[in-house]
Amino acid sequence: MKDRVFIGIGSNVGDSEGNCIISIKELRKDGRLAFRGVSSLYRTSPVSSIPQDDFVNCAVFVSWAGSPLSLLEFLMGIENRMGRVRDGKKDSPRVIDLDILLFGNLVLQEHSLTIPHAELHKRRFAMVPCLEIDPQIIHPGFRRPLATFLSKIADQQSVELIRKINMDEIELS
Ligand code: AMP
Repeated sequence: MKDRVFIGIGSNVGDSEGNCIISIKELRKDGRLAFRGVSSLYRTSPVSSIPQDDFVNCAVFVSWAGSPLSLLEFLMGIENRMGRVRDGKKDSPRVIDLDILLFGNLVLQEHSLTIPHAELHKRRFAMVPCLEIDPQIIHPGFRRPLATFLSKIADQQSVELIRKINMDEIELS
């Protein structure tokens, strides 16, 4: 059981707020996952050379009773079921994007999986929701507080608070 796992969630196609909420409910349906907390929803500017709509982003804090690869497979299954189209292009618009940002103190570099997520410390939209949940997070790769990376990021990455997520929105019925 890895009990400090942060999953980043993003959407910029269709009802992006609704898509983030649905994906959290999908996460909670699996018995291997124990839900521990969720950030607010944020509106964020896309980090991409492809023109596209703003994203809605958030993060969830969970425990996962399995390997990192089993979590990646689980997340990709949810993305596929929610209609994610993989066009092979990096940073294209997406109905839902689920990333493993942190998996305890694990540092892993494999063909299909990099943990911590390779872009975590470069992306305000990924760091701000995690730091809302736990301001003291240490980046296990750099062994530095994650918060210290925020000040180094270009100002054009805007991250605006939309609202808090109510627990009853993500409760399984
Ligand atoms: P994306 O376009 O962000 O959905 O990229 C998905 C691909 O990134 C997947 O095929 C994964 O194999 C790979 N990947 C590498 N590291 C991670 C990670 N920490 N979380 C999610 N996907 C990852």
